Amino acid sequence: MTKFKAGQRVFVTHHVPCYECKHCLEGNHTACEVLHEGNYDPGGFSEFIRVPKINVEHGTFLLPENISYEEGTMIEPLACCVRGQKVINVKENQTVLILGSGVSGLSNIQLAKLRGARVVATDVDDYKLKKAKEFGADEVIDATEDFNLRAERIIVCTGALQAAQQAFKFIDRKGIILFFAIPNKNIEIPVVDFWRNEITVTSSYGAAPDDLKESLELIKNKKINVHDLITHEFPLTEISKGFQLAANPKDSLKVIIQPNR
Ligand SMILES: [Zn+2]
Repeated sequence: MTKFKAGQRVFVTHHVPCYECKHCLEGNHTACEVLHEGNYDPGGFSEFIRVPKINVEHGTFLLPENISYEEGTMIEPLACCVRGQKVINVKENQTVLILGSGVSGLSNIQLAKLRGARVVATDVDDYKLKKAKEFGADEVIDATEDFNLRAERIIVCTGALQAAQQAFKFIDRKGIILFFAIPNKNIEIPVVDFWRNEITVTSSYGAAPDDLKESLELIKNKKINVHDLITHEFPLTEISKGFQLAANPKDSLKVIIQPNR
């Protein structure tokens, strides 16, 4: 493999499609079995990793000079948002409601604004509501308070069961609900509204190489601010602290691990 030289800075995705199966041929790369099964060896937090051949071919990109390694950690997560908003066709003048303003919510807020939508964002946490405003939401709402609106697109970015229920309450006729995150329990769909209002419920998993390229360009061209999403860094020796903070966030967003410190 001579595609890359020693010492070059690269971004490598863990998920790449085969480009040969039925799903790939239909353009549904994230449904590809190979994509779902792929990974680094032995895993992402190792000091060194081996990258499978197919990932080198289709999922490794030179990191532009102006993207730091830290910002590089957001290429794949942002690409998943790029994919999701393509799936539900977020566009100009739509009202998009984003439920949950953590890292994925804040990424989706920025992306929906870039696509020309009016964005309303919720959360239960004051810190995250403040961040939602900073990252461009037109309106932020405390999810525990009573509110009312009609959104043409709703992106669920939290595992809170209440958010899944709110999605069905606030979706407009002919609207689309995207489960970007899923609750940890099965949900009930209010079937009469679902049927009479012609609601679409859909999901999006992962990102394909085209989404990754788009995400990389968005970061490179400073269209999306991923730098300020990273609030905490820990050395590899303190990885458990990083996990604890990510599991119980407190005034924190993206937590990253620095392998060389
Ligand atoms: Zn495939």
